[in-house]
Amino acid sequence: MYNQKVLDAFANPQNVGVIENADGEGTVGNATCGDIMKITLKIENDKIVDAKFQTFGCAAAIATSSTATQMIIGMTVDEALQVTNAKVVEYLEGLPPQKIHCSVLAEEAIKKAIEDYRAKQQNKSVDKTSIEYV
Ligand SMILES: [Zn+2]
Repeated sequence: MYNQKVLDAFANPQNVGVIENADGEGTVGNATCGDIMKITLKIENDKIVDAKFQTFGCAAAIATSSTATQMIIGMTVDEALQVTNAKVVEYLEGLPPQKIHCSVLAEEAIKKAIEDYRAKQQNKSVDKTSIEYV
């Protein structure tokens, strides 16, 4: 059912875990497989310096999130937002059609984590401003 590249990524997933004090965090789920995906990001100056994932997902969810986290480390947050599930699937040289939806999890979790990061950044700058004007 899976090609060798997907099987390798599933058998030896990279970046598994949770980053303590993450700058951004996103959790998404899909009802079809019951997959749940949590992505945590360490971001410095808008650049992703570390990314980890945790999933109760199927083999496709694990392979695609391992690949997606590898792809976004070293990218700016804007670049990471361009990493679509199609690009991850292309990198893995294809997924069975019924498993494509699993690859969407990583993309959505990354987007959510970046949104979370941006919201936190805004809060920080608001706090700063209020301190400056007190
Ligand atoms: Zn799945």
